[in-house]
Amino acid sequence: ASSPSHAPLTNRSLVEIDREHLIHPVAPFRGHEQHGVNVLASGKGMWLTDANGREVIDAFAGLWCVNAGYGQESIVEAATKQMRELPYATGYFHFGAEAPIRLAGKLAELAPQDLDHVYFTLGGSDAVDSAIRYITHYFNAIGKPEKKQFIALEWGYHGSSSTGAGLTALPVFHRGFDLPRPWQHHIASPYPYRHPAGHDDAAVIASTVKALEDKVLELGADNVAAFFCEPIQGSGGVIVPPVGWLKAIREACTRLGILMLVDEVITGFGRTGPMFACDAEGVSPDFMTLAKGLTSGYVPMGAMLMADHVYQAIADSTAPNVPVGHGFTYSGHPVSAAVGLEVIRLYEDGLLANGAKTGERLAEHLARIASHPLVGDTRGRGMLGAIELVANKDTKAPLNPSLDLGGRLSRLTWDNGVVVRCFPQGVIGFAPALCCSTDEMDVIFDRVERSLDQLLEMPDIRRALG
Ligand code: PLP
Repeated sequence: ASSPSHAPLTNRSLVEIDREHLIHPVAPFRGHEQHGVNVLASGKGMWLTDANGREVIDAFAGLWCVNAGYGQESIVEAATKQMRELPYATGYFHFGAEAPIRLAGKLAELAPQDLDHVYFTLGGSDAVDSAIRYITHYFNAIGKPEKKQFIALEWGYHGSSSTGAGLTALPVFHRGFDLPRPWQHHIASPYPYRHPAGHDDAAVIASTVKALEDKVLELGADNVAAFFCEPIQGSGGVIVPPVGWLKAIREACTRLGILMLVDEVITGFGRTGPMFACDAEGVSPDFMTLAKGLTSGYVPMGAMLMADHVYQAIADSTAPNVPVGHGFTYSGHPVSAAVGLEVIRLYEDGLLANGAKTGERLAEHLARIASHPLVGDTRGRGMLGAIELVANKDTKAPLNPSLDLGGRLSRLTWDNGVVVRCFPQGVIGFAPALCCSTDEMDVIFDRVERSLDQLLEMPDIRRALG
């Protein structure tokens, strides 16, 4: 397929081959051709080394997934052992292998109350997609086939599958892809900094409950299947709802007769402190989706957890010899499952505790950096945090998108030796590995603060401050 103008592969640099052949997730095609790729070569703990031998500190755990940090030998050993013994075992029909069975048991033990049944996927997008399929199947099974409308939050992210991307509410995931679909709806996000009720927690909580009730009323309760949400909205810019919000939504879903899915792809596995964000509020949803920290990003795996009442209804409606037609070749992959078991052992063996301790240092830094002239808001929970930049601290006016804040900040932070996630609206996200020490957290903020100071020195940014 190589165009005749291409030199042989052996004569081309990695950057050239990448530019010509590799489509990067989410990257703009032309923009990526111009920018080129930053090739990462190795990692240890919190630190990454690029192909030029330069060391940077990773304050984003890859893509909020390498929760255990890089270079954990026991994870490598678990994968190697499983690959040597049995690299693949189908889970189709009645086959299985030890590692996925043990991991399913472990997840059911760790997860809130009724989430007893686990379907393994390859990541978060197909976990969300699987939930949509099973929820559809469930309502057909219980004789309520009209319940097919799904509701999610503005600023929400639920992956990139052709179904889930419509519940995602970030415009770039819709534009050009003919989404959302007519059965996919969104309600306002509990975004305290940008909410008319500001930091009145009770008012913010009440407003989402009311928005959900109104949307269900508008669509007809008999037509609504489920509400999907993240406990903290990650890709929307680390939007942290008030404490008590998740519980109030759980109660509203029950009252309204709709299922609740909590998408813990980012928040799961100690990211916000406890094993799952649901634990902090004693919430037990009908479905939970997991990925990222499940294998700490060492190998791909996601999981969809289903409450017992849903499982039993599907089971009762299907004759024992009739398949339930949802399945992936790699569901419950033994190597991923072996990694998952070892990663969870590490979390329980001290990583969660270390994350909780270092999370306090993250909170201290966020509180301190709030006084920077560019910073309008800081927020976070556990080892998840964000800084939101504004043009005016009093009016909260955002900086003009034409200033390409995300691009500039990405370059500045990279040049200063720290990897963070720079969201286009001027939000800097932090999600360091749970192995991060307090000293390393200080290094992260030292480098980020330097980047903010350099941004402030740019004449057009200075002019934009009002
Ligand atoms: N759900 C949430 C909350 C996510 O943050 C993500 C990814 O960032 C996904 C789903 C999709 O997961 P994946 O990228 O593994 O498909």
